Amino acid sequence: MAKQKKNDLALLGGRKAFTAKTKPHNPIGLKEQISAYKVLRSGVLSKFLGTWSQDFYGGPKVQEFEKLATEVFHTKHAISVNSWTSGLIAAVGAVGVEPGDEVIVTPWSMSASIAAVLHWGGIPVFADIEPDEFNIDPNKVRELITVRTKAILVADIFGKSAKLEELMKLASQHGIKVISDTAQAPGSTSQGRFSGTLAHIGGISLNYHKHIHTGEGGILFTDDDELAFRMKLIRNHAESIVSGAQVEDISNLVGFNFRLGELEAAIGISQLEKLNKIIRVKQGLANELTRELTGLQGLILPKIDLNLENVYYVYPILIDKKIIKSSRAAIVRALRAEGVPGLSEGYQNLHLLPVFQQQRAFGKKGFPWNQATGSLYNYSKGICPVAETYHDELFIGFGITGLALKKKHIAQVGAAFRKVWENLEYLAEEGK
Ligand SMILES: *Cc1c(COP(=O)(O)O)cnc(C)c1O
Repeated sequence: MAKQKKNDLALLGGRKAFTAKTKPHNPIGLKEQISAYKVLRSGVLSKFLGTWSQDFYGGPKVQEFEKLATEVFHTKHAISVNSWTSGLIAAVGAVGVEPGDEVIVTPWSMSASIAAVLHWGGIPVFADIEPDEFNIDPNKVRELITVRTKAILVADIFGKSAKLEELMKLASQHGIKVISDTAQAPGSTSQGRFSGTLAHIGGISLNYHKHIHTGEGGILFTDDDELAFRMKLIRNHAESIVSGAQVEDISNLVGFNFRLGELEAAIGISQLEKLNKIIRVKQGLANELTRELTGLQGLILPKIDLNLENVYYVYPILIDKKIIKSSRAAIVRALRAEGVPGLSEGYQNLHLLPVFQQQRAFGKKGFPWNQATGSLYNYSKGICPVAETYHDELFIGFGITGLALKKKHIAQVGAAFRKVWENLEYLAEEGK
């Protein structure tokens, strides 16, 4: 039987549903320009010194920025760093991960999460994600804890907190530490507390692509005085500070230069003041998109949970294969042809990276896996079935924070989805 073609799909030459012009998200304005200019005029672009002195803690803007961050995020310590990748490395070092220690991680994060573990010789062990939440599954974490487990490193992916209450309980039962990578969820909350402040250490990125940014940068959060000091040491040439500061336990205190500049700190102060407004805008757009897409058969929209406030770095969508016969590739191709920007097919499967397939990170002798004698590690396809199926077949991301969108853009995204959904049968046939 010949299928009747609906010729209005842009893929088949019809008019595009999304015609509005878009610009990238840009939170930088006059306030940032003025604060940066003042720093430039002062000539003091960084005041950090790698010696045990007052300047060990950085210049005036760095210290003002950190103080403001403790107030904004309700945390005891806020420690600025020159990127969140640096922050993650400092965090993993501070909790005392050493060669051969296992750290339970999520396959759905940016690669920096697992690189930070490898940098201290830790062995990442992957726990699958929760269905329709995309964050690490506490039940899977529980199954993977061994005598070698030193920490759990979770990510609050796409703008929503992982199940930190459960994970912290689990960690205290086993005497291990939890680190949260909140790069994508600044200002999101779990039961009213800020993501990034719910673990022993957490923090956010200030990279150009995030809700708020300083070009490059990041902030670490902790309520623990000792962890805070260890991270400050790692940030600023620990090895040459420890004797002056009379630190007894020098393990993992070989440092880096992870220091943030005064310009970035000054810009960061204005950015922190805007965070709340920015996330309200993104949430408004996401709610609007949910209204637009509600009712489309076989489309699974982000779960709303009043205790877990989402700041929508990415608006996550799943397709239900029981209802939809077209492939994800055909759907995304049709949506892109309609002009919809910011779409991604799948996300990450970090366990499948070459570093895990070959089990060697530093040198050629299999470090750090060769530090865990008697243990075997499996990174084959199949160990994280949820993350893999979502990545390979079911997940579509809409990068809602990366674009400066308005309500009219969201209406056109909705129109594009509806048009594609009317033609799903055609797209399924075409795929055969
Ligand atoms: C952006 C990001 C990072 C890295 O942050 P940088 O500041 O770019 O180093 C780490 N983890 C996640 C989940 C991210 O999205």
